[in-house]
Amino acid sequence: MVRAYLIHLASRLFHILKPMNPTCLFCKIVAGEAKASIVYQDDLVTAFRDIHPVAPTHILIVPNRHIESVNQAEAADASALGSLFLAAQKIALAENIHQGGYRLIVNTGPHGGQTIFHLHMHLIGGQRMKHPMG
Ligand code: 5GP
Ligand code: ZN
Repeated sequence: MVRAYLIHLASRLFHILKPMNPTCLFCKIVAGEAKASIVYQDDLVTAFRDIHPVAPTHILIVPNRHIESVNQAEAADASALGSLFLAAQKIALAENIHQGGYRLIVNTGPHGGQTIFHLHMHLIGGQRMKHPMG
């Protein structure tokens, strides 16, 4: 019983302390080791402007912890994943695009068009966009 609890605690601690991936660009941006125009940061997520914007507002919101994609997310990541949406809401307000509306996209894997393998949410707005389903 005690042993199972200690194993659980150790696994939670490892989850929290899990080091950044040294080869990951977005981990470096979160750590302040690579340059980016950061617009929001808290203990769970960081948001910065996309280097190749496709609309007047194009911001990437990432969990601070390295998660490769939605496929690798775990139950313990639930708060960070929820925080992506709450950060999007705050940033949309700050960018003054909340009333016009915006699009949130999470590309996953090669078929989803993911090119950077640190899970991220695109916040895109500032113009009316064509519906992606045609
Ligand atoms: P994905 O295609 O993986 O969904 O999105 C990756 C995004 O990262 C792309 O929109 C791309 O423009 C952006 N990106 C790639 N390299 C950099 C960079 O060095 N800095 C920033 N801020 N964005 C980047
Ligand atoms: Zn990373």
